[in-house]
Amino acid sequence: MSQLPFLPFSKPVIDEATIAAVGDVLRSGWITSGPKVQAFEAQLSEYFGGRPVRTFNSGTCTMEIALRIAGIGPGDEVITTPISWVATANVILEVGATPVFADIDPVTRNIDLDKLEAAITPRTKAVIPVYLAGLPVDMERLYAIAKKHNLRIIEDAAQALGSSWNGQRIGATGDFVSFSFQANKNVTCSEGGCLVLNTPEEARLAEKYRLQGVTRTGFDGLDVDVLGGKFNMTDIAATIGLGQFAHIEALTAHRQELARHYFKCFGDDFEVKYGAQLPPADFTNSNWHLFQLVLPERKDGLPARATFMEQIQALGIGIGYHYPPIHLLSLYRERGFKEGMLPVAERVGRLIVSLPMFTTMTKADVERSVAAVKAVLGNA
Ligand SMILES: *Cc1c(COP(=O)(O)O)cnc(C)c1O
Repeated sequence: MSQLPFLPFSKPVIDEATIAAVGDVLRSGWITSGPKVQAFEAQLSEYFGGRPVRTFNSGTCTMEIALRIAGIGPGDEVITTPISWVATANVILEVGATPVFADIDPVTRNIDLDKLEAAITPRTKAVIPVYLAGLPVDMERLYAIAKKHNLRIIEDAAQALGSSWNGQRIGATGDFVSFSFQANKNVTCSEGGCLVLNTPEEARLAEKYRLQGVTRTGFDGLDVDVLGGKFNMTDIAATIGLGQFAHIEALTAHRQELARHYFKCFGDDFEVKYGAQLPPADFTNSNWHLFQLVLPERKDGLPARATFMEQIQALGIGIGYHYPPIHLLSLYRERGFKEGMLPVAERVGRLIVSLPMFTTMTKADVERSVAAVKAVLGNA
């Protein structure tokens, strides 16, 4: 047993200046959406090259609202990846559209763009790609497919704030781009999300969908012309977001450095020697939201991941898994999805694990994490 404190796989860190600023908001007499939300939206918009940005109380409703703005509903098909948090597919059902899953690329673990293109039918209206662990898909190829087939793209960039593609920030280009500020994301608000939009008209519609469809005019004018919900971010959450977002460049650089150290510690012979698969060694595009391994199957027939997770935790190292294949969850099985349909996702979804990766981690923590992985896999 380790004498060192337990190393969690993820940990939000809020600095004292942010905690003090939250106190100021609580004392101010204005605690719901107000000046802090406006300031956060303005900073995000500047970061994304001046594109319109609106904030919400989750990254989930952010995607649902993007689908509504795009006019997607019953009879429409939306293609996405089976390896994501279930929110990515649930929002398609939420608007009454039909989810279609395309299998993943075994190396990037993101949607396979050949399979995506093969899944397009005359009913396909949109695609929701996911940038798992912060690694984008090939953006030129994705948008070439969208243009050719006249599809809207709702980028589920929940994990990709601070990521880029060919020197362009994720969010600074593209169609709708959705981010999450949930507690484990690189930048958090405790809970929250934002949507990057294309036009002021889309931004106005986003404002309606997030607050009961309301439009106000003059002193007492109020009308409702679309069915909105209650999805606004509070000034408390926005203040946490502003405090975190101020450090985005430094925290992304630190995560990239931790990822480099992971590769160095695993060494060139790790995959051959232990049969596990490392992520793509990308230190320019990815924000390294997660550091994920795909485990080998065990020779003794025991469930590889459950056994591995139990043994790693016993060595004082936190471990997560992201994600079980969405199409095999009961809600989706009821809609006809089953084993064998998406073989790559099914294997990766069964064997993928997330090692510790968070902003205040040290290189010594990486070394502990790698030593534990090697010890457990060496005994398997
Ligand atoms: C976190 C996450 C979401 C959901 O975001 P919430 O803010 O928790 O609603 C959706 N998709 C992916 C890939 C995520 O990682």
